[in-house]
Amino acid sequence: ARRSDGSGIVVIGLGRFGCHLAGALTRMDREVLAIDRDADQVQRFSTQLGRVVQADATEEGALRQLGVTGFGRAVVAIGASVEASVLTVLALVELGLPQIWARATSQKHAKILSSVGAHHVIFPEAETGDRVAHLIVSRLLDFIEFDDEFAIATVRVPQSLVGRTLLDLRPDERYGVRVIGAKVPGERFRYASDDTELPQGGVLVVEGGIEQVQRFAGRN
Ligand code: ADP
Repeated sequence: ARRSDGSGIVVIGLGRFGCHLAGALTRMDREVLAIDRDADQVQRFSTQLGRVVQADATEEGALRQLGVTGFGRAVVAIGASVEASVLTVLALVELGLPQIWARATSQKHAKILSSVGAHHVIFPEAETGDRVAHLIVSRLLDFIEFDDEFAIATVRVPQSLVGRTLLDLRPDERYGVRVIGAKVPGERFRYASDDTELPQGGVLVVEGGIEQVQRFAGRN
């Protein structure tokens, strides 16, 4: 049964990206309506996802009939066909969906999506490529980048800094980063303070620009 509180999410396009997105949302207990125009894709995911229907999402009338207007959010996960992706966003705009997320495969594609009314544009390939590059060449274990100036990362304690305290090291002055947490192997993360010693084999939570965090963490 469908809730009418608008908390559900419509996922359009069950390609490689869309099927993972819809699967993750389903595992997070969100109500998902998944739409694909390809009967084989619909068949393939019908047992794994809550509600999977076959429809051409560029057709506003078809979306309306499926009850898409009862949902607060839609993600257009179509990548290969720019035309289908743009027309689908347009249909969702016409239906007045409050939050439309759309996947772009190029900057030009992104520009069109924004200009027709997508509220959020995402670049899964570009973002993942970027992210994996950082993880490969540096000693970052994980990170979130908010913009050029701000990221939060977990990093292994650089070997050259083991045993130093933050008061002595002054990472803000030397590297332009702040160490906000530290974890001794086998223990839990604790907030860092001036007298925190960087533990051998430990992990730090560091904030600052991604380049600064990289420099602090050192190269692989
Ligand atoms: P990926 O790179 O994630 O595999 P694709 O762009 O190759 O993405 O796949 C997109 C999916 O969107 C396909 O399963 C395709 O059938 C579906 N699709 C394409 N156009 C439409 C449309 N107009 N309506 C609904 N689904 C569509």
